[in-house]
Amino acid sequence: MAETLAIRNLHARIAEREILKGVNLTLRKGEVHALMGPNGAGKSTLAYVLMGHPAYEVTEGEVIFKGQNILDLAPEERAHLGLFLAFQYPVAVPGVTLANFLRAAINAKRKAQNPDDPGISLIDFQRLLLDKMRLLGLNPEFAGRYLNDGFSGGEKKRAEVLQMALLEPEFAILDETDSGLDIDALRIVAQGINALRGSERGFLIITHYKRILDYIRSDVVHVLVDGRIVESGGPELADRLEAEGYRRWLEPVA
Ligand code: ADP
Ligand code: MG
Repeated sequence: MAETLAIRNLHARIAEREILKGVNLTLRKGEVHALMGPNGAGKSTLAYVLMGHPAYEVTEGEVIFKGQNILDLAPEERAHLGLFLAFQYPVAVPGVTLANFLRAAINAKRKAQNPDDPGISLIDFQRLLLDKMRLLGLNPEFAGRYLNDGFSGGEKKRAEVLQMALLEPEFAILDETDSGLDIDALRIVAQGINALRGSERGFLIITHYKRILDYIRSDVVHVLVDGRIVESGGPELADRLEAEGYRRWLEPVA
């Protein structure tokens, strides 16, 4: 049986307000799941809770991965266990290049797995970095930029996908956010996910619009409305949502 990341009856709140009201969702390795839903449904909240953002209080439920409840772990411990959560490092760090940051991220993961690991050599890292940048169609000069310093929304996404390619997570959770990525950025993200998908990895792609799903074929689509999954289905569900919107869940039936 494929390894799973199982979200069970997850309740979470921010500023005294309950946002997630019992989310149940099981991701499997080898599958791409899409999570869609109207604005304010709690999609980003779910991403933040999974990454361990301190502002969100989990009041009930669990998230089981490799036999443990990851909600008990610090964000970096979740990452070292094999989860990749976008937004982990959203801050700008002038003076630290993307390449330096990525090398540090790889070494932190290796050290967590084996305290005696001396880290990746500069030569090996540069080879790996160039390899992955080629795979993703990124300009090698991009790695020399200071981390997130003046990055556009699209560049932040590119950096995120590159980080994902280097860390080779078992499950990756990506929030497209509602910032409105341009079509090129969207393609880079989609190309990266498509290049990295396979039996050893599972994805949860969080998105408000179907757009990105035109580039990434998802195996399962879930709809989140008012903090709960209200429907799950195949890729055709995304087409239906595109055509019909979320009205049928938002308005009482006459
Ligand atoms: P989505 O990503 O589906 O659009 P979010 O998870 O961003 O939804 O937001 C869910 C709800 O949580 C929204 O009603 C939003 O106003 C509320 N919310 C998010 N962050 C905060 C906060 N810091 N304080 C209070 N309410 C918040
Ligand atoms: Mg959001």
